[in-house]
Amino acid sequence: MSTALIWNDDEFTYDFGPHHPLKPVRVELTVALIRACGLTEADGVLTLPRAAFTADDAVRLHTPDYVDAVMRLSATPDPLGDGRYGLGLADNPVFAGMHEASLGVCGASVAAAQAVWEGTVQHAFNPAGGLHHAMPGRASGFCIYDDPAFAVEWLLRNGAQRVAYVDVDTHHGDGVQTMFYNDPRVLTISLHETGRYLFPGTGFANEIGSGDARGTSLNVPLAPSTPGVVYLEAFDSVVPAALDAFKPEVLVTQLGCDTHVTDPLAHMALTTDDYTLIGERLRELAYRYARGRWVATGGGGYQVASVVPRAWTIYFAALCGAELPAEVPREWLVLAEERVGDRPPGAFLDGQVRMSDERLQITRREARQSVEDLKRHAFDLLERL
Ligand SMILES: [Zn+2]
Repeated sequence: MSTALIWNDDEFTYDFGPHHPLKPVRVELTVALIRACGLTEADGVLTLPRAAFTADDAVRLHTPDYVDAVMRLSATPDPLGDGRYGLGLADNPVFAGMHEASLGVCGASVAAAQAVWEGTVQHAFNPAGGLHHAMPGRASGFCIYDDPAFAVEWLLRNGAQRVAYVDVDTHHGDGVQTMFYNDPRVLTISLHETGRYLFPGTGFANEIGSGDARGTSLNVPLAPSTPGVVYLEAFDSVVPAALDAFKPEVLVTQLGCDTHVTDPLAHMALTTDDYTLIGERLRELAYRYARGRWVATGGGGYQVASVVPRAWTIYFAALCGAELPAEVPREWLVLAEERVGDRPPGAFLDGQVRMSDERLQITRREARQSVEDLKRHAFDLLERL
């Protein structure tokens, strides 16, 4: 068996309401597209349920008072929330059952980690996961409990000595970075639109980890409008060398697709063509440095029908090592149109973004500067670990 999709058909409860950009329909349509392409029926592909995950598990990384606050507001949702814990703010409105829904997302990422680490499969994907902004003591950026951090934590608790986490969401993976900032067993790498302009306002090259974990937190801030070609140059300058130095036993990735040029919440200029290239690279890196062990989660992405399902189906095909057809299956286009009112693009690949040479050079200069800063701040330290 090679790849698992972690999925329960009731996985639509993490829902901040109809006016919030993080809509469960994006995950529903993703799984429907993966299935419509026949990937879940392919040889070596399993669908596995989430693992049990309770409040006792949540306090392994979150503070008990924060978990108590989530439980309290989940049982009795007061719209005012509790500002001390980031709950009830516009980004993180409270909703009935949010504690259980958030535990479920964590259980799915833990199931992915477990299936890969125990050798049931080589790769596993939790499309509902990737809630990388959740902090030890507060909700942040649509994220209540930090499921990718729990995947990493499970791996460490079950024998992994070195875990690499690569985050390609357009926002800095600040929650996961924070959880393991002092832990030399975890390398976090985040490529993202610079925090100068975008939430959460962190993720600069001088955030390198602390204590004996100095050098294990790597950040590549990129300019708004950065296109795929420049993004991939930065990726290639940092990620393979860092993995080569760190020698992980397993790769965990957060595959947010809010880097897309049409995403309404951010300003990067990638297309689905770039997700194909990132997926190929991550697969190759997992085999080269982590014996093929690759745990993947979803993440951000707010074009719920026109981008997210295609992006994550492209990544799932990379996990499976399968070819996708050029055309998106017609029955899925009909379903998507029924669910959201608009028909998504009919091809998997968008083509590249057209951009002036001047703009391209500006984004390339900033990317090169970020890579140079990161290498100066962190690479010597990483190589000495
Ligand atoms: Zn994001």
